[in-house]
Amino acid sequence: AEEMMIRSEKMSVAGQLAAGIAHEIRNPLTSLKGFLQLFQAGVNRKEEYYKIMIDEIEKMETITSELLFISKPLTDNRNKESVKDMLDDVISLLKSQAKLQNINLKLDKNISGFVLCDRSQIKQVLINLVKNAIEAMDDEGTIEMKVQSSHSKIIIDVIDEGPGIPEEVIHKLGEPFFTTKQNGTGLGLMITKQILDKHEGKLDILKNNDKGSTFRISLPTA
Ligand code: ADP
Ligand code: MG
Repeated sequence: AEEMMIRSEKMSVAGQLAAGIAHEIRNPLTSLKGFLQLFQAGVNRKEEYYKIMIDEIEKMETITSELLFISKPLTDNRNKESVKDMLDDVISLLKSQAKLQNINLKLDKNISGFVLCDRSQIKQVLINLVKNAIEAMDDEGTIEMKVQSSHSKIIIDVIDEGPGIPEEVIHKLGEPFFTTKQNGTGLGLMITKQILDKHEGKLDILKNNDKGSTFRISLPTA
């Protein structure tokens, strides 16, 4: 990965978030209302519309559950956690999803290190990053997780073989609701950054030399 690269920037979340929520919920609601009005007018072949309606509802469900996650108190529950254990958990959680796309989740052999953290939240961070990596990749390829630990900090890299991130959008990653995906919520990286912030950690995004990108987490060693 290239040396320099991008320290993801701090955001003032509240305002962006409120506007974003209103927008993200209003659009599906408008569309649902439109379909119901069609039904009311006696349109035929309703079945064709059901799928779209369910998709819209699912989108709102995902958004609301991610928002609930944000409103939870962060890092109430810190313990000394093994980085290897957490990565193993995350891999077993996401293995089947990766397999569907023929993606191999590869973990360094000799991982050591502990962080003082809320286990479920740091796992959530790792899940968000590995999921994004899977979603960025076509069928086939490898997502690699590498860990470097020193006496003061632990660095976890999630390295994918996706298309990488265009220069113009890098600064937008982590803004609430910024997504380039059809069914994305654009909340994953925002939550990720918030959790890392609370843990005195950070997220950096590096550009790989050949292809894809590296999402780098740094956390203080326990
Ligand atoms: P979502 O996954 O719902 O889109 P995220 O906050 O997790 O929301 O990610 C925001 C955006 O960042 C994605 O829509 C995508 O454009 C970009 N992104 C995140 N991770 C990667 C990656 N590994 N490779 C390429 N683009 C990525
Ligand atoms: Mg995501």
